[in-house]
Amino acid sequence: MQRVKTADSIGRAGLRVEEPMPSRGLSRDGPMGDREAGPPRWDLSALYENPLDPAIESDLGAALIAAEAFRHSWEGRVQERCVEPAEAARALEALEACRERILRPLGYAMLVLAADTQGAAARTLYGRASGVLEAVKKLLIFFPLQLARMGPGTLADLAAHPACREYGPYLRRIIRQAPAFLPEAAEHLALDRDLTAREAWRLFYDMTLGALRIREPRRGGRPIGLPEALGRLGAADGRRRKAAFHEIYQALDPCIPQMAFALDTLTHHEILDASARGFGSPLDAAALAGGIEAEKISELLDLVESRYSLATRYFRLKAAAFGSARLAMEDLAAPWGRGACGAPFGAARRRLERTAAAVAPAWDEAVRRVFADGRIDAAPEAGKQGGGFCHAPPPQRLPYVFLSYTGSIRDFLTLAHEIGHAVHYTLAARQSGLVFDGSRVVEEAAATLFELFACRQWAAEGAPAELGMQLAAARIEGFVATVMRQSVLTRFELALNRRRRVSPLDADFIRGAWMEENSRLYGDSVEMPGAYRDGWVLVPHLFHRPLTCWVYVYGQLISAVLYRRCLDEGARFAARLNRLFEAGGSAEPAALLRGVGIDLDGLAFVGEAFEVFEGFLEDFERMVQDSGAGVAAP
Ligand SMILES: [Zn+2]
Repeated sequence: MQRVKTADSIGRAGLRVEEPMPSRGLSRDGPMGDREAGPPRWDLSALYENPLDPAIESDLGAALIAAEAFRHSWEGRVQERCVEPAEAARALEALEACRERILRPLGYAMLVLAADTQGAAARTLYGRASGVLEAVKKLLIFFPLQLARMGPGTLADLAAHPACREYGPYLRRIIRQAPAFLPEAAEHLALDRDLTAREAWRLFYDMTLGALRIREPRRGGRPIGLPEALGRLGAADGRRRKAAFHEIYQALDPCIPQMAFALDTLTHHEILDASARGFGSPLDAAALAGGIEAEKISELLDLVESRYSLATRYFRLKAAAFGSARLAMEDLAAPWGRGACGAPFGAARRRLERTAAAVAPAWDEAVRRVFADGRIDAAPEAGKQGGGFCHAPPPQRLPYVFLSYTGSIRDFLTLAHEIGHAVHYTLAARQSGLVFDGSRVVEEAAATLFELFACRQWAAEGAPAELGMQLAAARIEGFVATVMRQSVLTRFELALNRRRRVSPLDADFIRGAWMEENSRLYGDSVEMPGAYRDGWVLVPHLFHRPLTCWVYVYGQLISAVLYRRCLDEGARFAARLNRLFEAGGSAEPAALLRGVGIDLDGLAFVGEAFEVFEGFLEDFERMVQDSGAGVAAP
């Protein structure tokens, strides 16, 4: 995260945290017949015995010593010694070893904390590992800065030399990022400031929302946390959804001034940072990290906005099922049919294993091992972090999957999404540490592609009519949430960024910009109540990872095209897919995607992806017509 902003220093070990979406609660009448062991907790003992394992402290100490030794050997000598390709390769190998040393205990600490956010041992361990990470970052940051001083021509020659070829992608990344590097003292200050500014505001956001208690309208009901309340927006009972919607926004109301202040400060922070680094567009930093030009992202957003009408068509269909012209906001996630369907964990696991086996043997092996090795934490326990993620720490890069699985279709798709990341990381594990991390655009494409495969697999296994309909609806709602909705969020952030350049943001401006950007998508077909003006508070990405929501737009559009090609071309295309995912970050996304026939610059793939989506929509419209189905009665 913010890899580019810290002069290619080590990010938070590539932990991928997805935006939590309202998950659908299971109704009692859902087809849940399969009785067997529930969702598992993971087994992290392949990394360390427990959070108090002395090997962790010893590895953290060794990471610090290795970074000090690296600095001692190379500081001030990079330009002179690295012109020799063999020497440059030696330096890069040593740098890679330093990074791998810290990423293992840090990765473990992050996994432990995610599974137990309230545990004292987990928090202490994470605090200790983060502290060592910051120290290691400061020790190593001189290296990319001094490499950059060698100039793009020399670095390009080095990247092409056989001795350094393995590290070519890393060197080319330095060439791209070099214009944004600051002097070392300023980079050190930026690292310090990240802790007291960005990180602190993120934590403030998490603490504020974590402390919210939502009133339970039922008499005698206990107040509930926000994730549970958001889950109720997918309840089959309309009164329950409506009450949850009302109570969530009531609970948010008192913290709006603080949240507006946090968003204003974070937006200001991004502007100051971008200006210090000479970025022209607010999207430049994230675009550079993703290997895509900011201008192309803007073009993509325009193209997506021109197709918002497809989402409108779906919203109208759902509104009609409610007997209304416009869909109520609290019914956006309502299940189609009499009750919400789902699947117990064991059935979901077997279905995902079959999904992978149908694509390629390497996928089959990757998915079976995640489950069989106990590298998945899916039990919906109190104290766990929200959302889902997949993380593959060095040295083996075995992926660990995290989520809270309650059995809904939405959870099944989240599980499929994270397993998709796990397949990608397993295939890319052969890449060396400096080039393991791929562009997030390709990573998200891998994950959403597996969601599409899993959905198809379930439907093909003879799902009953109501389940089939809910699966088809989930696929459409997923596309709208990932493509249209993330475009709205990016446009909203750009509006805040423009305004903050001339004046501080207050709650009124933020609310106005929020409603304006949302009305472009929802205006004609979804009723936006006044309370929704505070909906921005419920989007963690705005606070956690500013201006990166567009990554999901690319990921979903690319995956739709890959999905169609896979169905059209079968095993031949699966081999090309494997090559794409095995490459990890060893080439630019545009070059990698050319290998599967996608021209990232030309944007023709966007039209093709919308054709696929329109096909999903037409299939669903036919299903609705044939069944005469409505949605759950309000
Ligand atoms: Zn993802």
